Amino acid sequence: MRGKVYLVGAGPGDYKLITLKALECIRKSDVIVYDRLANIEYLKEAKDTCEFINVGKASSNHLLPQDDINRLIADKALEGKIVTRLKGGDPYVFGRGGEEAELLCDENIDFEVVPGITSPIGGLCYAGIPITHRDHASSFHVITGHPRKDGKETKEINWNALANVKGTLVFLMGIANLKNISENLIKEGKDKNTPVAFISWATRANQRVITATLENAYEIAIKENIKPPTLIVVGTVVNLREKLNFFENKPLFGKNIVVTRCRAQSSVLAEKISDMGGKPIEIPTIKIQKIEDNKELEAEINKIKDYTYIILSSKNAVDIFFEKLNDMGYDARVLFNSKICAVGGETAKAIKSRGIIADIVPQNYVAEDLYEELKDIINENDKILIPRAKNARDFLVKKLSEKCFIKEVITYESVIDNDKKDLALEAIEDENVDYITFASSSTVKNFITLIGEENLKKLENKKIISIGPITSKTIEDFGLEVYKEAEVSTIDSMIDSISNDEKMKMGELIC
Ligand code: SAH
Repeated sequence: MRGKVYLVGAGPGDYKLITLKALECIRKSDVIVYDRLANIEYLKEAKDTCEFINVGKASSNHLLPQDDINRLIADKALEGKIVTRLKGGDPYVFGRGGEEAELLCDENIDFEVVPGITSPIGGLCYAGIPITHRDHASSFHVITGHPRKDGKETKEINWNALANVKGTLVFLMGIANLKNISENLIKEGKDKNTPVAFISWATRANQRVITATLENAYEIAIKENIKPPTLIVVGTVVNLREKLNFFENKPLFGKNIVVTRCRAQSSVLAEKISDMGGKPIEIPTIKIQKIEDNKELEAEINKIKDYTYIILSSKNAVDIFFEKLNDMGYDARVLFNSKICAVGGETAKAIKSRGIIADIVPQNYVAEDLYEELKDIINENDKILIPRAKNARDFLVKKLSEKCFIKEVITYESVIDNDKKDLALEAIEDENVDYITFASSSTVKNFITLIGEENLKKLENKKIISIGPITSKTIEDFGLEVYKEAEVSTIDSMIDSISNDEKMKMGELIC
């Protein structure tokens, strides 16, 4: 059986600038072949079993030759696999995607191409430069600045035409050849004062834009140490950047913020940080470890019809309970005799996905409220099962046991995810990281256990943001200083304290 290849454009870098079709390909692939311009965050969307092949490690200069890449993709498809060839921007814009597609065609391998937002389009936009404008440019031209070794392309480039057309010029892969580009354009009659912009790592949190003129472009590029990947823009549209620079003006632009993961909260925080232009660096500190071969749970499930209530207080508790039920050959019908209580909206949702609408969901999603709801309706004939995490609060079990029989079964525990230690250390050692956020006391403790107390000192030059007084106390107990505490204990307020921090700094500069 032959597989299929998708040549997929991953867009210019901003995580959300990818097409739905591209995501669908990533999710269904058996193999993903990618290089450095495609945002690697997309790999998280792939199946657990997906094989990842990096064919462009810029740092070590180990670029796989194009012929080998073509062969690799074809061979994987011939093994019957679904392959996504993930390329930065659009696959047919200077990505040699055409050559990859040709080989697939020659070998009769089924393929599709998924276009992406190319960097000259996405990158200029995020730099605040409209690629065309009625008063400035009536066309745009995307040119390779990287001459072919055989010299063919240099001859192909009509410098005279480019110098005289009233359009925006965008050179890709042009940094190494910049001197040649600017000299050729000036020689063929382009005004030496024409504005130039260098856009590096366009649309990413580390986007950097430097402006110059055609005449001093080379000198400035050297001085500013401009490196690939960079777009070189030549044209008066560059001047509009001052006015239209929406991306770099976002409140958290350029800020790298560590988000110490604590259940669902962290993704909300990370999402908000990126919406405001910052770069969240998510560090999961704990992982869920299921109790394997749980005989105690099996025994209770075997007599489940004796239970009049089942309390589930997290999505994990729901998943583990129902998986065991199914493994034992039962389905939701076996719960006919029990009322189901859910603590938390996410928990109720997880129960619903198993075909059951929870009977009781306390309004404030806390154990105390559930107790309030139950205390007057249960009597000594009731039997309650509560399958849940180790070290959960004992409030419910203690209070309910005064009224009837309650059986707690430990089904999982949260353990420190030691696999993430390197990731955590890398983040705190990175001098570009400005802030570390803690949204609960337990994440403080978990994070410090993960990095090891011997590394506490490394946190001293980071700005620590705490969600509230209890979390701050835990931070201070470790001898660390809280840089800012959220005014009210919410994720939004935490973000406000970071963006206000920035505003204050700008204010200081102005005054
Ligand atoms: N297929 C890609 C281009 C591949 S050629 C696309 O459609 O965008 C590689 C060159 O593209 C780089 O040398 C650089 O000039 C440019 N480039 C791609 N992504 C970029 C980015 N995020 N920021 C700046 N330049 C980028």
